[in-house]
Amino acid sequence: MRRYREGGSVPQRQVRIQLLPSSFDNQGDATSDQRLTCFLIDECVAVDAGSIALAATGVQREKVRDIIVTHPHMDHIASLPIFIDDLFPTLESPILVYATPEVIDLLERDIFNWNVYPRFSEVKNDFGPVMEYVPITVGEEFKAAHLTVTAVPVNHIVPTVGLVVSDGQSTVAFSSDTSETQEFWNIVNRAPSLEALLIEASFPDSMAKLAEVSRHFTPASLQRELQKLNHNGAEILAVHIKPAYRQTIIDELKALKIPSLGVMEPGRIYEF
Ligand SMILES: [Zn+2]
Ligand SMILES: [Zn+2]
Repeated sequence: MRRYREGGSVPQRQVRIQLLPSSFDNQGDATSDQRLTCFLIDECVAVDAGSIALAATGVQREKVRDIIVTHPHMDHIASLPIFIDDLFPTLESPILVYATPEVIDLLERDIFNWNVYPRFSEVKNDFGPVMEYVPITVGEEFKAAHLTVTAVPVNHIVPTVGLVVSDGQSTVAFSSDTSETQEFWNIVNRAPSLEALLIEASFPDSMAKLAEVSRHFTPASLQRELQKLNHNGAEILAVHIKPAYRQTIIDELKALKIPSLGVMEPGRIYEF
C-alpha cells in the first residue's frame, strides 16, 4: 500500500504521514537517525512534537495547529515549547494540545511551569490565547482537525497512549512508546480496516533487559507482539529506533522475515 511521493501531483483521499527528521548531516540534509518523535499527518496534525520546531517546513508551520501528545518524555515534546514560541506573535488561533489529563498535568508541572518555559496556556498575544489543552479520554473518539482519533493506554514507564487515527478513508495506528500490551490491540483489531501500523522497536535483542525495564520493544518482543494484530493487510513500519543501535536493530527486524514489516524513514512522505 505504501506510496512514496517524490514530488508532483498527490493522489487524493489518502492519509499522508511524515516522520519529521531530527538529525542532519554536515550539509544540513536529513539523516535516517531518529532522535526525536514527531509525525505529521496530512501536514496539519502532529502526533508528538519532538522535532517539530526544528524540522517543520514553512508551510507546515503555517498549517499545524493540532498537536496530540502521547506522553511527556523529552524525545516526544522537546521542541513543542519552541514551536509555540516561534509562532507566538502570528498565532490567530491557539495551538491545540490534545493529551490525557495526566499528561497535561505533567506538561504543566515539568515544562510549562515558568521555570523551564512560560506557561503558554495562560498567555495571550494580540489575537487571544496561544495554546489550549484539549483533554482526551482514553477509549473515546475525538476529533483533531479532520481526523477521528481514539487514544488507548499502552505499557510504558509514564502515562502514555497509543493512537488509532482515521481520516474517514484510511486508518493508521501509532503504538507510541510501549512494551507488551493488550488494550491497544483490542482497539486496533476493532477498526474496520487498518492501512498502516507505526510501531516502536527501540533496542536490539541483546538489550532485552533494558528494553524490559524501560518498557520498549526489541525485534524479538515486537515479533511476539505482532501476533496480536488481526489486520493482515496492514503495512507495518518500525519507528523509534535508537540511533546508536540502528543497523543492528534493522538487521534483526529483517531477519524476522515479516513481509509487511519495514522501517520508516524520517523525512519521507508515506501515503496510505
Ligand atoms: Zn517514552
Ligand atoms: Zn520515546
